[in-house]
Amino acid sequence: MNIILFGPPGSGKGTQGDYLVEKYSLFKVSSGNLLRQEIKKKTFLGNEIKSLIDKGTLVSDKIINNIIEDILLKKNHSNNLIFDGYPRNLNQAVELDKLLKKYNEKIMCVLSLNIDKKSIVKRVLGRQICSNCDLTFNEYFNPSTKNNHSCDSKFLTKRTDDNEGVISNRYETYLKETFPLINYYINQSLLKKINGTQKIDEINEEIRQIIDSLET
Ligand code: AMP
Repeated sequence: MNIILFGPPGSGKGTQGDYLVEKYSLFKVSSGNLLRQEIKKKTFLGNEIKSLIDKGTLVSDKIINNIIEDILLKKNHSNNLIFDGYPRNLNQAVELDKLLKKYNEKIMCVLSLNIDKKSIVKRVLGRQICSNCDLTFNEYFNPSTKNNHSCDSKFLTKRTDDNEGVISNRYETYLKETFPLINYYINQSLLKKINGTQKIDEINEEIRQIIDSLET
């Protein structure tokens, strides 16, 4: 199964993606993580990407689409992908459909996490990423503990775009570019709406029920 996790920044796509990886042995394709890996290399492209991410605007479709095609081309995780943060506009959604067709793959569903802006800001400000294993935590709602995380706490980092100024721009970008994709996926009968304001476990359960009902 291939799944798209859809929702505004801070809606829990990364956290739910990690859950799906563990529960269904899927492979998570987080476009944001892939871009941050490029930034770490300190290449010319990486620096260009960083300046866009730190403004809260989108990186060019060409860069992202190439990264996604590389993953589909390798066929290591055929029909086992969770897309987190991609597609983020109509052009990317159309391109993804073309790529899936080319590599003989399909989307099973688009899980749309619904959440209000106030809750998003709270979540984003508490977010922590482990630079060692890439897992996402939240110092208020889902702190890293010995039970849920085996890396040392020294690896916990904050994203440079997780601050109040940039989150407003990211939210505006979402409303303008990404939100309209809802209709694109409703028209393909793929969209499943999820209450993203619930506790993490409750969202896990809502998602599990949807996936299990689609698989039977
Ligand atoms: P995320 O980790 O999904 O919150 O993404 C962080 C930032 O990376 C976004 O604010 C964008 O600047 C950039 N980004 C991530 N995914 C995409 C995408 N599919 N298209 C364009 N830019 C992206």
